[in-house]
Amino acid sequence: MSRVDFGITNGIAVLTLVNPPVNSLGGELRRALLESLERAEADGGVEAVVLMGSGKGFSGGADIREFGTPKALAQPNLPTLIRTVEELRKPVIAGIDGVCMGGGLELALACDYRVGVPGAQIALPEVKLGLLPGAGGTQRLPRLIGVESALNMIVSGAPVASEKLRDSGLFDAFQPKDILKASLDFARIVIGERRPAKRARDRKINLPNAEAFFQFARNIVKAAAGPYPAPLACVEAVAAAVEKPFDAGLKRERELFTTLMLSPESAALRHVFQAERAASHISGVPDDTPTRPIGRVAVVGAGTMGGGITMALINAGFPVVLLETTQDALAHGLSTMRRNYQSALRKGTLDAAGLEKRLALITPTLDYAPLHDADLVIEAVFESFEVKRQVFEKLDAVMKPGAILASNTSALNLDAIARITRRPQDVIGLHFFSPANMMRLLEVVRGAATAPDVLATAMRFAKKLGKVAVVSGVCDGFIGNRMVMRYAEAAHDLILAGALPHEVDAALQDFGMAMGPFRMSDLAGLDIGWALRKRRAAESPGRDFSDIADDLCQAGRFGQKTGAGWYRYEAGSRHAIPDPEVTAIIEKYRAQKGIKPRKVAGGEIVERCVYALVNEGARILEEGIAQRSGDIDVVYLNGYGFPAHRGGPMFYADQVGLTDAARALRRIAAAPGNDPAVWMPAPLLTRLTREGKTFNEYKGPAS
Ligand code: NAD
Repeated sequence: MSRVDFGITNGIAVLTLVNPPVNSLGGELRRALLESLERAEADGGVEAVVLMGSGKGFSGGADIREFGTPKALAQPNLPTLIRTVEELRKPVIAGIDGVCMGGGLELALACDYRVGVPGAQIALPEVKLGLLPGAGGTQRLPRLIGVESALNMIVSGAPVASEKLRDSGLFDAFQPKDILKASLDFARIVIGERRPAKRARDRKINLPNAEAFFQFARNIVKAAAGPYPAPLACVEAVAAAVEKPFDAGLKRERELFTTLMLSPESAALRHVFQAERAASHISGVPDDTPTRPIGRVAVVGAGTMGGGITMALINAGFPVVLLETTQDALAHGLSTMRRNYQSALRKGTLDAAGLEKRLALITPTLDYAPLHDADLVIEAVFESFEVKRQVFEKLDAVMKPGAILASNTSALNLDAIARITRRPQDVIGLHFFSPANMMRLLEVVRGAATAPDVLATAMRFAKKLGKVAVVSGVCDGFIGNRMVMRYAEAAHDLILAGALPHEVDAALQDFGMAMGPFRMSDLAGLDIGWALRKRRAAESPGRDFSDIADDLCQAGRFGQKTGAGWYRYEAGSRHAIPDPEVTAIIEKYRAQKGIKPRKVAGGEIVERCVYALVNEGARILEEGIAQRSGDIDVVYLNGYGFPAHRGGPMFYADQVGLTDAARALRRIAAAPGNDPAVWMPAPLLTRLTREGKTFNEYKGPAS
């Protein structure tokens, strides 16, 4: 329930926004505020109005849940409210503390005066959702704090501490504390001195050389904006504030805002924002499920992943017991961590004392005994069921009752791991991505027996590590790797058909992927897949597991680490250079298989690789491995470099239209050489197409 508290103190009406946690300006609060403003205006005993927030501060701005729905525009909308404040026949003073962002700041800018205290966070973050401040922010802020400072805030969306803005012109009074008292004191002065209304809209902007300034700003912003139209639109809106009278500037701001609101880039960013929030809700696990306390954590294995996970833990302040098999492996793990911190030291984001403080949180051990009182243990040993069996048997024996036993396995069956122990309800998968201290994504793997409070605890713990967690059911590769396998297969098929690795990579990078699949494969190393194929061939004699990558490995090309893979690399460089030797290997392979190469266009490359992801995503969704399509998008955006301006593979398919996606898949399935079992649209995709629904509208098997 949101409301506005109305009180009168010595002729001053105090209007307090109450809509926890950040007083977002949803329809109900807007209506309540309008009524309160009208009441204050009508009350003969009121000489001035103080408008302030409660809880976490003034206001965090628009209610994101209303975005893109008719509710956002329902009367009174924010522009109406702002006009009412501006036209009120009594002075309105905004008391700004805590969060003052977006529409919240725009409301404050429309008041006659602003009073501030230290510790407030001031921002116009709309650009982060592909928008611009659409309720006068681009017109009023430059009039108050100057064009350059305003433009910086609007284009970056970054919060600025109120202390820094103390003398900027934003505040008419700034007090050390107590926003209510500071606002009331200031209101008394305004009343006492009969100060005239001091509206931002009436101020003139003085900017010599405005044309040159904006040309420079456009150049800089355009270069940095990439595929996003919003930053440049922000510049245009601020330019209008300088070049046009106030109302004409407002009109221009509205036009630009409306265009951005309808842009696919903003739709994608808003989807991502909402999908990340939705991902923390788990079906069958109510949000108020009690969690287990996590204080001490243990990590088993100090290799690539164990080391990265330990860094993520100590960065968040968790004490860690780190277990290895030999003193050498421990020493190697610790020295790698120290080395990995060097770039933070160089950048100045961490100092030497801070580094030592973090490393001091680690208790290295070769013995299981010190693990007994850890609340959570994360296993990151070799990817072998036998090795993991030994580890989990020991963990089961030493860990205290109620401790959570997590595995970082990429491909082993979590339920089989859980069955090693006598407490499968306490076993969960925490699938980190490499480098684990940097990558935001965490797949939380829900086993058949995993207890609800263990899941709830894992999600809370992920948040403490600064990760975005997505729940996955148990299957080969979970959500991310299962899909990326299909993507890689599609990319390989294109090579067989006639494309070259750099052509496939270039097409997908033009689409927006951070890195094409062959550059990614060179980075990860080709030897892992080679070993896996050899093992599978030995397990299933008579089946063909061969791959062009085998021929590359045979030639000693394991990727970046050997200076050659799908590309070649100059010593010490990560720059991928197309290599005629690779072309020769590919041509020989095609000839052996009797394939006549053809020209493959960029559009076909993108279509095949992205729809391979989408089709597997549809299967994952239908099987209930992922809870919702947005979760799949969050995985792909945060773990696999899918471009945020396309919102993730499932959202992308929704935008293109599922009918078109299904038709393209049927066309690929029917082409010679393609396996229809792989390429035919997944049953869920066909069903949604028939029902005229999107992936985003799919709410599980019952829907
Ligand atoms: P790694 O070879 O770099 O490290 C494994 C470490 O475990 C080694 O330091 C080894 O000494 C130690 N170890 C082996 N047996 C042990 C035992 N019984 N007790 C204690 N320590 C033991 O391997 P990695 O790449 O860090 O992978 C570890 C796990 O993480 C695997 O299950 C892997 O599938 C998974 N994983 C890896 C990645 C990745 O990108 N490398 C990503 C996600 C998950």
